[in-house]
Amino acid sequence: MDCSLRFLGGCGEVGRSAVLVDDEILLDYGIKPGESPDHPPSYPLNGITPQSIIISHGHLDHCGLVPNIMDVCPQVYSTPITKHLASFLAKDTLSIAERARQVPPFYAEDIYEFTRNARTIDYRETFECGRYRAQLYDAGHIPGSTSVLLESENGTRILYTGDVNLIDTRLLNRAARQPKADILIMESTYYGTDHAPREELEREFVDSIRETIEHGGNAIVPCFAIGRTQEILMILHKYGLHPYVDGMGVEVFRMMIQYPEYLRDSNTLQQAFDNATVVKPNRRAQLLKEASVIVTTAGMLNGGPALYYIHKLHDDRYSKILLTGYQVEGTNGHHALMHRHITIGKRVLRLGMHVEQYDFSAHCGDGELKAIVRRFCDLGGEIVFAMHGNNPADFASWISEHKIDAIAPENGDEFMIE
Ligand SMILES: [Zn+2]
Repeated sequence: MDCSLRFLGGCGEVGRSAVLVDDEILLDYGIKPGESPDHPPSYPLNGITPQSIIISHGHLDHCGLVPNIMDVCPQVYSTPITKHLASFLAKDTLSIAERARQVPPFYAEDIYEFTRNARTIDYRETFECGRYRAQLYDAGHIPGSTSVLLESENGTRILYTGDVNLIDTRLLNRAARQPKADILIMESTYYGTDHAPREELEREFVDSIRETIEHGGNAIVPCFAIGRTQEILMILHKYGLHPYVDGMGVEVFRMMIQYPEYLRDSNTLQQAFDNATVVKPNRRAQLLKEASVIVTTAGMLNGGPALYYIHKLHDDRYSKILLTGYQVEGTNGHHALMHRHITIGKRVLRLGMHVEQYDFSAHCGDGELKAIVRRFCDLGGEIVFAMHGNNPADFASWISEHKIDAIAPENGDEFMIE
């Protein structure tokens, strides 16, 4: 083995993932959720000029800063839908910065450069990337998400899981089987936590919405625009509820449906959207006059129409916020759960409405993370780097019990592997 790994971000934290291989290939280049992009990248490259970037998937914490380095790094690889999502998110980042009169992390020309330079790669297609042969494996996390396998000329195989899910959801099939590798760089978001069985969770979630509606309240369901909005609408459709849907998730749906090969069942997704009513901004106040369920962005309450609804309803004890995903520390969603308040602009709102959280995660739970490690060991793997989680050091100690090297790197750490 002979390679170097430099961990730029996403170590001991969830967000701004970025790993450099041989200072030449960048795996992801993301933004930390909840942080304003109004600052220089959290990880200056210090003069390193990677020749290519492989984007594992179209979430901001993995692709959000890619246009920022178009001046030094022209070649980008991703699945077609990831390219589309990354460019969509980049335009959104730019318009948020413009509205807030902040210095944007990149400009429209950089996004143009990105779309011009991004080469699209399908699952399992082999492509040359520096001295490596690369392949992307379906990671089952959001449409088009991948785990990246790099194989050097002398046969060293590096597998970067990205965000990965080993169970089927309504929107997606589970991840493809992880290939054999020598070095594994893996996410560890849910180490120590198993997810509830999906059907059980869906029923609890739907029952809670029904109860809110029966009491005349509004059920506000904040969702990430990419993946979660679509998954939740499929669940509500399945259980015969007719939601309103508001925010960026609608636009993302219209884009996603153009890539049916990256979905488990595009017809059912289409039906789920046909079953929902899209909200026009001037109709928002109207919805709150009667009991309803409103699926809306942003998933961590850091913007989007969700804040409009919560602002109006924060004191209403018949209404409810049903969070549907991971809440990064420091976000409004995390504050709502832990301290029962959120901040909108300069106003801190105490929440009289109920706050609940449902773990519709698109990540492996504890059992699946361990299954990935066991399979890696069984296939002769040698070193694991655990990142993208709040507790990767504990995960690394668990992995070490399997008689292989396990490391929880810190941001900025560099490793020469010989
Ligand atoms: Zn993700």
